[in-house]
Amino acid sequence: MTELRFDPNLCRACATVDCLVRCQYLDLDLPGARIEKDLILDGRPSRVLTDCVTCYGCEEYCPHGNHPFYLIVERQEQLGIQPAPAPITRQQLIMMGDKNDAPPARVQAPVIHLCAFPMLAGGIAGPLYEDASVIAGNDIFCNVMWLHFARNSVIRERLPRVIARIWERYLRDSGVDEIVCYHDECYATFTRIAPAFGIEVPFRCVHLFEFLAGRLEALAGRVRPLKARAVYQRPCSNRLIPETDRWVDEIFARIGVERVARRYDRGTPLCCGGVLYAHQRDDLGDDVQRRNLDDMQAAGAAFCVFNCPACMLSLGEAAAERGLFPIFMSDLCREAVK
Ligand code: SF4
Ligand code: SF4
Repeated sequence: MTELRFDPNLCRACATVDCLVRCQYLDLDLPGARIEKDLILDGRPSRVLTDCVTCYGCEEYCPHGNHPFYLIVERQEQLGIQPAPAPITRQQLIMMGDKNDAPPARVQAPVIHLCAFPMLAGGIAGPLYEDASVIAGNDIFCNVMWLHFARNSVIRERLPRVIARIWERYLRDSGVDEIVCYHDECYATFTRIAPAFGIEVPFRCVHLFEFLAGRLEALAGRVRPLKARAVYQRPCSNRLIPETDRWVDEIFARIGVERVARRYDRGTPLCCGGVLYAHQRDDLGDDVQRRNLDDMQAAGAAFCVFNCPACMLSLGEAAAERGLFPIFMSDLCREAVK
């Protein structure tokens, strides 16, 4: 069993407890946060473990990279605290299971990893994705979603074989050592979660946004500025890899899109609501979605840009009803290239 890498002494000596004080959902002041943090460190029940909405935000708030959210999930599982009703967790465990039934295949760079979303493969087309190979399916599903279900054990069990399959089934014999992760979740899994759990990754990962920015630079002469204003729905999994958010600004600058300032973007994004409904916290889900959509609508943008398919599923239709055209970042970029 791989151990989670975190340093309890760092937390014991921490003067700010940013991980909990900055939480947008728990309303803890510093003394309260200190008490709850110590309970979590001691492996005792804490209201954080029952009330956490699993937004991943505290992974970004900790200035020391000490993995406060992975520890919350660890403790939830150890203490049997289930954020979602048990039947829903069981159903998801079966639905997202791997069958290991796909044959090996040759690929060529760039290899676009679509994770559990093969239905998006049609969008990997056009000049931006020239010569690209696509890999997808539950067999190579990153499994980070189990952070929402108090199941670090499933990540520990499934992730090593997912990594081995990507390497042995596709990359190794093709002479390719790099994948482009379409979904923030996959990039976060391979570059953050795997190291936090001591799991080796034998290939390199490029975030989709870095790839798109590079392609837009290479195709600069064919880019038609869209001259549009957009709001961006920053997904929970991007909280694990906040350094990649700057690529949103770079991409928008390259395609002539203004990232309209709003309250729930950048350092204070709101959950899309999908996880809250999966946890059957419907009233909270309704409230979070309403605040997010009000904020988007007030910003006066034409587009609502998503990168996460789950966010698109949760919010896309509602954004359209508010007059914002929902679109994936990848498709927005494709629109800009002649
Ligand atoms: S996780 Fe980070 S912010 Fe939270 S108490 Fe520990 S060191 Fe401080
Ligand atoms: S994951 Fe989100 S809701 Fe849970 S404690 Fe961290 S910041 Fe708060």
